[in-house]
Amino acid sequence: MANCIAPGCTEKIHARSFCNKHLHRFNRGKSLTEKSVREKTLKERFFDKVHKRGENDCWEWKANKNHGYGQFRINVKQIKAHRVSYELHHGKIDPTLCVLHHCDNRGCVNPKHLYQGTYQDNTDDRMRRGRHGFGVCPGEKHGMAKLTEDKVRKIRGMYIPRKITQLMLSKKFGVSGSLIHNIVTRKAWNHI
Ligand SMILES: [Zn+2]
Ligand SMILES: [Zn+2]
Repeated sequence: MANCIAPGCTEKIHARSFCNKHLHRFNRGKSLTEKSVREKTLKERFFDKVHKRGENDCWEWKANKNHGYGQFRINVKQIKAHRVSYELHHGKIDPTLCVLHHCDNRGCVNPKHLYQGTYQDNTDDRMRRGRHGFGVCPGEKHGMAKLTEDKVRKIRGMYIPRKITQLMLSKKFGVSGSLIHNIVTRKAWNHI
């Protein structure tokens, strides 16, 4: 038996030269090639809502926003779009850190404009820009409670590659390895 005639489809024909799914789409006047929302990957769904421009420009979120931050729905949860973008491009966010904007544009999801920092970095940034407010980063209290400026200085002072390793420091200070990494590479707490 022949296959469905929709481009790229390998299903068997159900009726009128189409498989069940494509017959359905054909009858409803839907595109035969475009993926349905369910078939799209998270990344495809995400970028349907992004006004992507030059690689160094701000990529504006086109869909729902809350306090200027893009909102993206994953299952039933609304998640801040810039955080989703960060994870899609740079990997998992350290739960003790915030994702911050270099560009000061909350609606921007260009991964090049995003970086991980502490709640303190965020507050400092905002103080500099004359903007105040709370409730921006999850985990901020957590992150602040575990480390103090003193401890951060100690961590940097103690770190000796291959001798006093990041893993040893993470155990000693009771914080994640990625936070230690961010501290010694000055991706976090870089105001100290
Ligand atoms: Zn088909
Ligand atoms: Zn931007």
